Amino acid sequence: MKLKICGMKYQENIEQVAALQPDYLGFIFYEKSARHFDTVIPELSKSIKKTGVFVDADLEFVIKKINTHNLQAVQLHGNESPEYCEALRHAELDSASHKKDKNLKQFQIDEKLEIIKVFSIKNEFNFDVLKPYENVVDYFLFDTKGKLPGGNGYTFDWNVLNNYPSTKPFFLSGGIGIEQTLDIKKFKKSKASKYCYAIDVNSKFEIEPGLKNIELLKEFKNKLSNNKMNYNVNEKGYYGEFGGAFIPEMLYPNVEELRQNYLKIMAEPDFKKEFDQLLKDYVGRPSPLYFAKRLSEKYNTKIYLKREDLNHTGAHKINNTIGQILMAKRLGKTRIIAETGAGQHGVATATVCALMGLECIVYMGEIDIARQAPNVARMKMLGATVVPALSGSRTLKDATNEAIRDWINNPVNTHYIIGSAIGPHPYPDMVTRFQSVISEEIKWQLKEQEGRENPDYVVACIGGGSNAAGTYYHYLHEEDVNIIAVEAAGLGIDSGESAATSVLGKEGIIHGCKTLLMQTKDGQITEPYSISAGLDYPGVGPMHAHLSKTGRAQFMSITDSDAMAAGLELSKLEGIIPAIETSHALAIFEHKKFKPNDVVVVSLSGRGDKDLNTYIDYFKL
Ligand SMILES: *Cc1c(COP(=O)(O)O)cnc(C)c1O
Repeated sequence: MKLKICGMKYQENIEQVAALQPDYLGFIFYEKSARHFDTVIPELSKSIKKTGVFVDADLEFVIKKINTHNLQAVQLHGNESPEYCEALRHAELDSASHKKDKNLKQFQIDEKLEIIKVFSIKNEFNFDVLKPYENVVDYFLFDTKGKLPGGNGYTFDWNVLNNYPSTKPFFLSGGIGIEQTLDIKKFKKSKASKYCYAIDVNSKFEIEPGLKNIELLKEFKNKLSNNKMNYNVNEKGYYGEFGGAFIPEMLYPNVEELRQNYLKIMAEPDFKKEFDQLLKDYVGRPSPLYFAKRLSEKYNTKIYLKREDLNHTGAHKINNTIGQILMAKRLGKTRIIAETGAGQHGVATATVCALMGLECIVYMGEIDIARQAPNVARMKMLGATVVPALSGSRTLKDATNEAIRDWINNPVNTHYIIGSAIGPHPYPDMVTRFQSVISEEIKWQLKEQEGRENPDYVVACIGGGSNAAGTYYHYLHEEDVNIIAVEAAGLGIDSGESAATSVLGKEGIIHGCKTLLMQTKDGQITEPYSISAGLDYPGVGPMHAHLSKTGRAQFMSITDSDAMAAGLELSKLEGIIPAIETSHALAIFEHKKFKPNDVVVVSLSGRGDKDLNTYIDYFKL
C-alpha cells in the first residue's frame, strides 16, 4: 500500500518528510484549515506526487494552484459535483508536468493529473453516492466524518468498507496513527482492503498543526512495510529500543559468560530432558487449562484459566528457577544468590537450591523481612540464608543492589537467579524462554478443547513481566491473537500511589536494562505502590516496554479495589482463591467487553494462600 502524508506546511519539515519517500505529499489550500499552505513547495523527488487539497474552491483557483505548484494530484474535500471533477479532468493545464505535448495531443499517462474525491464516513455509508463519480475521478478517499473537513483525529469503523461495491482504488484516511499499525495489518488481510490503494495520514503524526514528527513517521513507515515486526530479543539483546545490558564493568564477566552460553545450553538435549522431567514430576506440569464456566456466563464470553497456581510453590515462578538452577549447574556454579521483595521468588529459589543441594543466599529488604514473615520462615526451612538489606528504603531495590554487590565479589562460583523478565541481557530472554512453557501448553490444550490453537485474547498481570512473557511468547507473532497486559494502578493512576508503568513510566535504566520505568523529573526512581507485593515494581521488563510502545499489547491498569473484588468473585464463582497479582488480570472483565464467542485465556499466575491475611483485613472476613 502507498503512503500519503497530508497537511504539510513548513519548508524544512517538508524536506525532512520527503526524505522518507512517501508516495504522496498533501498541501492544503483552504484558508480555514490550521494547515493552510501559502508558501512555496521545495524541490522534491519525482517519485513523490504533490497533492493539492481543496474544499469547494473555484475551478480557476484550483487550476492556478496546479500550475504554480506543479501538482500531480488534487484531492477534493468539499461537495464538488461530478461535473466539477469532469471539468477539472479536461482543464487546460500548462504547468511543466501537465503541458500537452503538441504532437501527442494527449496527456502522457503518468503525467495525467490524478483526481481524488473524498467521502466522509461515520458509522455507516451509502455507497450509492459514489456511482456518479466512478468515471470522472481516479481514486476515492474515505475519511472520518467530523466538524471540519479532514484532520479530526478519529478513525471510522473500517468494517463499513466490507460493502464497498466498486473496483476503484481508494485511500484509507481519518485519524490513522502509529497505534493503528496492527489494525492496518489486519485490515490488509480483509476483503475490504482489496481495493485499498493507499493509507493517508495527517494529524496523528504532528507536533503541532502542519509540523510532522519525523521519527514517528519513520517508525510507522517501517512498520507498514513488509518486514515483519520482531517482538523477540535481537542478537544485541534489544527489544526494539529497550533492553541491552547496562552493568558495572565489574559485573561484565559474569553476564558475558551467561550470554555466551545460555542458548547453547538450553538447546542441549540433556538439558531439555532434565528441565521437562522436573517440570512434569516436580512442578506438576502441564498445568490445566480450565474453562471457567460460571465466570464465562457472568461475563458472556469464553474464559479459560491457565492454572499456574497449581504448580509446586503456588505460582509460575518455579518454572524459571528450575530452568536457572539447571543452567547454573551446567555453568559449574555451586552457590546461588537471589533478591526477593515479597519473598515469592526467594521461596522458589530456595526450593530449587534444596532440590539440587546448592548453597542459597537470598537478599531481602529489612522492611520486607518484617512484612513477609511466613515466606522468610519458608526460605529458612528450605535451608536458605536470608540476608537483610539495611540500606535505602530497605525494600526490593536495596535487596537487588546487595545481590549485585555479592555477584561482583563472587564471580566464579556464584549464579544470580533473577526472578522476572528483567535485568541485563540475557536475563529477560532467558527467563521468558523458561516461562514460555505456559503458552506452549496453552496451544495444544486449547486445540483439544476449542479445536484451535489461538485464542482471541491472552491476558496476564505484569510485575516485571515473567508470567506475562511466558503466556504471550508463542503468540507474539500471531496477529489474530490480541495481547492484554494488566498493571497495578494501586490507589489510582493519578493518586501518586501506583505501579502503572506503561502510563506513568518513561524510558530509563533500571537493574541493568533500558526500559519504561516510573521516575521523577530528574530521573530518580519513584517508589511504586500496589496492594499486591508482586506487582509493586517501578518498571516493566524490556519486552513489555516494546509491546507497549509498538501497540502490540493493550495495557490496562487496575486499582487495588477492583482487583480485590475480582479475587473475591473468582473465589465465589469458581472455588479458586487467586493471588492478588492474578486478581488484577481477572478484573479486566469489569472494564472491557468481550464478544460471546471470544476465547480469552487468562494466566492464573498464582494462588491466594500467601495473600489470605490481606484478603481477611480488606474484607473484614
Ligand atoms: C511474582 C508474581 C507475579 C509478578 O511477577 P511477573 O514476573 O510479572 O510474572 C504475578 N503473579 C504472581 C502470583 C506472582 O507471585
